Amino acid sequence: LGSVGFVPTMGNLHVGHASLIDRARAETATVVVSIFVNPLQFAPHEDFQRYPQTRTNDLQLCAKLGVDVVFTPDPQSLGLTAQAGLDTDRFLVSPPSSLVQGLCARSRPTHFAGVTTIVTKLLNIVQPDRAYFGQKDAQQLAILQAMVEQLNVPVTLCPCPIVREASGLACSSRNQYLSDIERTQAAVIYQALQAAQALAQAGVVDGAALIDAAAQVCHQVTALNVEYIELVDPQSLQPLLNLQSNPKTTGLLAIAARLGQTRLIDNLLITAVNYRCGESKA
Ligand code: AMP
Repeated sequence: LGSVGFVPTMGNLHVGHASLIDRARAETATVVVSIFVNPLQFAPHEDFQRYPQTRTNDLQLCAKLGVDVVFTPDPQSLGLTAQAGLDTDRFLVSPPSSLVQGLCARSRPTHFAGVTTIVTKLLNIVQPDRAYFGQKDAQQLAILQAMVEQLNVPVTLCPCPIVREASGLACSSRNQYLSDIERTQAAVIYQALQAAQALAQAGVVDGAALIDAAAQVCHQVTALNVEYIELVDPQSLQPLLNLQSNPKTTGLLAIAARLGQTRLIDNLLITAVNYRCGESKA
């Protein structure tokens, strides 16, 4: 059991992060958690400067969860400045364009190059056998899986399920930007995903119908400003017009929306379980 498990985070640890750490603890001998708010993945107008930092609590939680090493580099030690934005004077790792055409890349065009660059740096420093990432950030996960495969990075990526609050709201460090009312309203995002899933389970395979069902639920909360609702292939991230066009009849339904100043993302893998060949109720 000489293996090293790595959980990269931006801190402000919550039960979602804890689930990744628990899994690393169960599967590897030495667990390393990094806490680093990565300036490269924020655009200058985004929340880099006010990103919630709770270092003392984070370290306590890591100790409680049996983490062996907490890696807390500062930007300078990683050769970065503490300014939001991609540093194009330095080496970057860029995702292929097919993976950054839709979903969050539309409103955050440089975000994923910031992620792949920092994850490459962290993997090179920590050299883990296994690295744990949440399905919450589904586009990030698909991009990192493609990166590891296409660049022959010697690590096994371990996707971990989304952890939710009792209301269904996906746990996120950014949830603490929400007011009490907004937090209640935010639960509609998961309800929208579930509404689409219920349709798919009733045999509806048409992408537009599934997206429309989710949109209608989102519209129940007028304060919610939907940025996108997309149905894509979970690996290639290409739009799925029809669940049936995917061999496993599974699609990734992903939503990004704003409540006030807060941007929230969530997703669900949906499958047309009752679908039978040649029959569509869409
Ligand atoms: P972050 O600190 O937000 O960059 O997240 C660090 C890691 O935790 C990423 O792999 C995220 O996908 C994962 N993560 C964040 N929130 C959740 C959640 N609610 N459930 C599962 N994983 C999560």
